[in-house]
Amino acid sequence: MPLYEYCCLDCETRFDALRSMSAADKPITCPECGQEHARRAISLFAAISSSGVIAGNGGSCAQCASGNCAGCHNHAH
Ligand SMILES: [Zn+2]
Repeated sequence: MPLYEYCCLDCETRFDALRSMSAADKPITCPECGQEHARRAISLFAAISSSGVIAGNGGSCAQCASGNCAGCHNHAH
């Protein structure tokens, strides 16, 4: 099952979740605030296959609705 990365629109927490591809874009509950306002940031597998790099460089949260996840505490890069 693919690993997807999500970014909460409410508290900007980033977290990973294993979900089926069909459920990847469905609402997911944020583990921090409990709101279902998390948006998928980037697929780990897709990032590897498309660019050979995991999660890009710095601006990898561009997929977030806000386009800015600088406040995230879980930045992995
Ligand atoms: Zn949240």
